[in-house]
Amino acid sequence: MIEIDGSAGEGGGQILRTALALSMCTGLPLRLTRIRAGRSKSGLMRQHLACVNAAVEISGAHATGAELNSQTLAFTPGPVRAGDYAFSIGTAGSCTLVLQTVWPALLMADAPSHLRLGGGTHNPMAPPFHFLDRSYAPLMRKLGAGVELKLQRLGFYPAGGGAIEAVIQPAAEHLCPFDLVDRGALMEEYAECFAPALPRAVARRELDQLGKDLGWDGHQLREAPVRQHEGPGNALLATLVYENVSEVFTEFGERGVTAEAVASSLVRDVLAYRATEAALGPYLADQWALPLALAVWRRRGEAAYTCSSVTAHAKTNFEVIERFLPVKFSTSAVRGAVRVAVAYVS
Ligand code: AMP
Repeated sequence: MIEIDGSAGEGGGQILRTALALSMCTGLPLRLTRIRAGRSKSGLMRQHLACVNAAVEISGAHATGAELNSQTLAFTPGPVRAGDYAFSIGTAGSCTLVLQTVWPALLMADAPSHLRLGGGTHNPMAPPFHFLDRSYAPLMRKLGAGVELKLQRLGFYPAGGGAIEAVIQPAAEHLCPFDLVDRGALMEEYAECFAPALPRAVARRELDQLGKDLGWDGHQLREAPVRQHEGPGNALLATLVYENVSEVFTEFGERGVTAEAVASSLVRDVLAYRATEAALGPYLADQWALPLALAVWRRRGEAAYTCSSVTAHAKTNFEVIERFLPVKFSTSAVRGAVRVAVAYVS
């Protein structure tokens, strides 16, 4: 039984998701206390409960404390079963976080899985669909983990209603860790504005401001096509494609915040990443740790990546991963970046 204190370090939902994922990958039972004690509304919110329920479904787990607002969870997984699954959050909670909870475990299954997920596809404080599709999924494929992702419908807070499909290929025998210390040459940079059910002028103003601040011109500034009955919502995305990695930065429009201010916040994120020589930005810095550690464990190997900073999310994730897998993370400062190494320990 692995005991995890959910208030440790960053104290958020990622502790729960990483612990569930690795409990399923290793078969080790988990007891989690003080769930999300670092957040103002602690315990399992609907979105976190959706992650627990999805984990129970794919692994036939026995769970106690899987209830709204619960502060404690005991989770004993069974063998992970590939299959066709539909997980719906029922609110605008992030369905990409549900996907990231079950993804590592489904890699360990013996057949492909087909997932349909419903909820928010572009949420603040969660990986937006386009980040998963352009940044995270290509790295997973490079690791040996085949995946196809499809956005069926955008979903924003508070209406939700988004839909994603994912096909996850089994990869236990193919996972192969690799170093990602250099982002490589810049290939392409562009921005998109998703603003369904909002006046077109909002998207135009955000894109114009971003273009002005970053020196990007017309063909790099794209108003994303709007499908019927989506939204309302407003996500401004900047995608930076390098030889070895793509980064996607996202800013959300809000009532009371001008279109120009939304663009300026996004510009700050892009410039902060560009100012370093790191391969990974602040979000991949924590999210890449788990799949890479899985590959390192399977191969009894080692690997490294550079990131712009080791965030509190990243540090906490390293600690949770080390509780489940025989791996050790270490960090060191390198020119204009932090180098994260993860090695198998026998
Ligand atoms: P938590 O706050 O513990 O629920 O974890 C949030 C997760 O969402 C972390 O893995 C973050 O890296 C990720 N995340 C938050 N914002 C973004 C973003 N804009 N792009 C990509 N990932 C994000």
